[in-house]
Amino acid sequence: MASVTYDKATRLYPGGTKPAVDALDLHIEDGEFLVLVGPSGCGKSTSLRMLAGLEDVNGGAIRIGDRDVTNLPPKDRDIAMVFQNYALYPHMTVADNMGFALKIAGVNKAEIRKKVEEAAKILDLTEYLDRKPKALSGGQRQRVAMGRAIVREPQVFLMDEPLSNLDAKLRVSTRTQIAGLQRRLGITTVYVTHDQTEAMTMGDRVAVLKDGLLQQVDTPRRMYDKP
Ligand code: ADP
Ligand code: ADP
Repeated sequence: MASVTYDKATRLYPGGTKPAVDALDLHIEDGEFLVLVGPSGCGKSTSLRMLAGLEDVNGGAIRIGDRDVTNLPPKDRDIAMVFQNYALYPHMTVADNMGFALKIAGVNKAEIRKKVEEAAKILDLTEYLDRKPKALSGGQRQRVAMGRAIVREPQVFLMDEPLSNLDAKLRVSTRTQIAGLQRRLGITTVYVTHDQTEAMTMGDRVAVLKDGLLQQVDTPRRMYDKP
């Protein structure tokens, strides 16, 4: 676990006239669930991708704990990311999907098995480990995608609209599951959504972006209390 600090982090896309993310100052506590919210195009994904190392930072810095990661490649940042199009490998079982990154990293089979079993337990996937993704529901697949991220025991967990492919009912139940899971694991999490209800129900704190600028950061409770 570690805190995350955006220190005037700026991203100006090549050919852009103004930054997609403009001097973002934001400190996320160790173990905190922070939601980045705002309308389409406000800079949420860009902020997340800068933290993941998938987007250049053109000004300012990003730190994980006290490590300056601004110029580190993604693999050296100790981060795991779950996307909305959580592509699972269709020909692999759930267990193999979840253990794949560890296998690539050269972790031994017994150790992978142990980690996969632990993650499956937490995510309520134990009975599905030997199935292929196509035999699962959308919500179960989403949990496999989270499991794949969790087994790596990252310091920071990033999610970009992870629920947007689920139907409304499943979205609400999965929301609760993700928030509960995060609290149990206590991994510092940055969660991107355009859905205000999702933001207010899931986040320890919510950061509101507009046109690349940070408008407000507060707990959901204090945001409700403000006019
Ligand atoms: P959000 O995730 O809030 O929808 P983004 O971070 O994707 O917003 O985009 C922020 C701004 O940056 C938008 O104006 C978008 O058009 C622009 N943008 C995003 N990706 C690129 C890119 N690869 N090249 C140029 N402009 C981009
Ligand atoms: P390989 O496919 O390389 O022979 P395995 O069949 O053991 O190796 O599967 C690959 C990885 O996925 C393993 O390291 C294993 O730990 C994990 N795995 C496979 N099946 C299960 C399972 N039922 N429960 C937990 N982990 C599993």
